[in-house]
Amino acid sequence: MPAGQVEFRVARNTRLRDQNCIGPGCTRTARRSDLDHTLDPGKGGDTVEENAGPACYRHHPDKDRGWTLSQPAPGRFVWVSPLGRVHHTRGEPIRHDLPDPQPFRHHRYKLASEMLRSRHGTV
Ligand SMILES: [Zn+2]
Repeated sequence: MPAGQVEFRVARNTRLRDQNCIGPGCTRTARRSDLDHTLDPGKGGDTVEENAGPACYRHHPDKDRGWTLSQPAPGRFVWVSPLGRVHHTRGEPIRHDLPDPQPFRHHRYKLASEMLRSRHGTV
């Protein structure tokens, strides 16, 4: 797969996974963030979901400002500030209150389809 397509796929997947910028306390949406490599490609980091996350224009350059970033598990990030303060960030689930799936109500579907057929005289 060409490098551009890999980068596009990883950016899309990590935006879905993390929902927001991975910077400490940042609420900028992942859609408005760039693809950030946790370990830069120049230092051997791969373009894979386990080594990437969305970072906004404010947080993307933080590693060049003395911050260090690691990703101990996919979507879980540990930032260390230049003064040594540790911040843990992680993506938000798409929905917190997702209901349990309901069993398919086959009998209702059957009744509705029988009504339609009798209405149109195709029984
Ligand atoms: Zn940010």
